[in-house]
Formats: sequence, C-alpha cells, structure tokens
Amino acid sequence: MEKYWIDTHCHMNDETYRDNLDEYMQRAWDFGVHKNVFICMNRADLEYTFELQKKYPYIDIAYGYHPEDVDKISEDDLKYMEEIIRDERIIAIGEIGLDYYWDKTYKQEQKQLFVRQIEMANKVSKPILIHSRSAAQDTYDILKQNAKTKVLMHCFGESAEMMREYLKLGYYIAFGGVVTFKNAKAPKENATNVPLDRLMLETDCPYMTPVPFRGKTNETAYVKYVGEFIAEIRNIPTDELQLQLMENYRRFFSEKN
Ligand SMILES: [Zn+2]
Repeated sequence: MEKYWIDTHCHMNDETYRDNLDEYMQRAWDFGVHKNVFICMNRADLEYTFELQKKYPYIDIAYGYHPEDVDKISEDDLKYMEEIIRDERIIAIGEIGLDYYWDKTYKQEQKQLFVRQIEMANKVSKPILIHSRSAAQDTYDILKQNAKTKVLMHCFGESAEMMREYLKLGYYIAFGGVVTFKNAKAPKENATNVPLDRLMLETDCPYMTPVPFRGKTNETAYVKYVGEFIAEIRNIPTDELQLQLMENYRRFFSEKN
C-alpha cells in the first residue's frame, strides 16, 4: 500500500504561490505529500481551486468564511455558500470559527456567522474545520451546542485541559509547524498526548513555517517536517504514523457520522 503525508489545511490557492504553483506542487509530491486540503475563503478562491483540481485531482476542497472576514460577508455570500456546499467536490466546511486576537469589535457578529455556518454544515452532513484564537471558551460552547457533524480543531494552540474536553466530544486535533518551535511547550505536549486515532497534520501555509525553514515562506511540502517531528517525539516509525494519519483522514472525511 502506498504511504504518504497529508496536509489537512493549506492555503496553496493564495496569491503567494500563483506564479509558481506547478513547482510547489511538484515539490510536495516529491516530498511524499500526496493529499492536500485547499481551504477556500471566498468565491474567487473556490472557482480558482475547482480549476486547479482538474489538474491535481488529489487535492481536496473545503469552503467557509473566516471569522476575521466577518465584516465583509454579505447575505449574498451566505446564500451562495448554502447552495455551493452541496457540491460533492467540497468535502468540508471551513475554516470557520472565532478570532478575538486582533479585534474584538465584531464578537457578536463572529458568533452569529460561526453558528450559521455550523448549521449549514449540519444540513449537508459535512465535517467542519475550526479556527479558534483567543476565544477558547466561546468556541467550545458554540461547538458543543450546535455541531452535529465531525469536528477538526485546526492548528490547535489551546491548553491540555481544553484538548481533553474536545476529545471527550469526539473531535479531532490538528497540529502544524508550531510544534517544531523550541518554545512551543504546550503544543508539543498536546501533540505527544493526543490519541493517535484523533491526530491530523497540516501546514496552514503560507503561515507557521516549521523548523528547519522557520522564518521563510511555508508551503504544503513541509508537512513532511511536521510529520517527522511528531513521529520522533512520539517515538514511532514515520511509515506507521503515515498509515495511521491516512486512516484518520479517511474516517474523518469519508464516513458519515
Ligand atoms: Zn488557515
């Protein structure tokens, strides 16, 4: 059986990569990264990514409105989303969630947008990919109350206690380049302790570049470094980890609740 790495959250549809995308996708393939979830945050992203998928059929697509865009999202955008997420090329809803890190002005609006998108996901029975920053308790409360499909906590940066609470709800936990940073004590501990059957990996590129490329632009190929790092801290062979992550991916995205 072919073993490979999966990047469960990337923004390779970002402007950053547009001129040299073939080169980036080739490098990812050469690094053994043979599945990438492209996060689409607006209609233009999505249309571009649908086109890309014709060329790279192994990429998967998620669609959702990011909390930091809350003041730009119109009723029309929501109507568009409601329709388009029925499309079978869209395998998940996200990234959606709450972000109070830079701006708390739209807290109420963020919560409304979050709940509304969870309800849409419930309707089409598709899993949701969660962005949560400086909003741990509100994220937890809203998810617990509203989510009826599978849930993946993207780029998990909260405490061990919060992780335990999410695991109790059956959620999955994804880690990215941050775990490789020297000072990232909590993410490292969480990545070591999360049950193997609930673990996922991601790059969130162009952000969060892992060691040994920290400080440079991130790209989807580098999920390999995140994987190798986690295999090492958990003391398991990399190919065993790959098989487990492939199985998690299948279970999360393909099996109905
Ligand atoms: Zn993202």
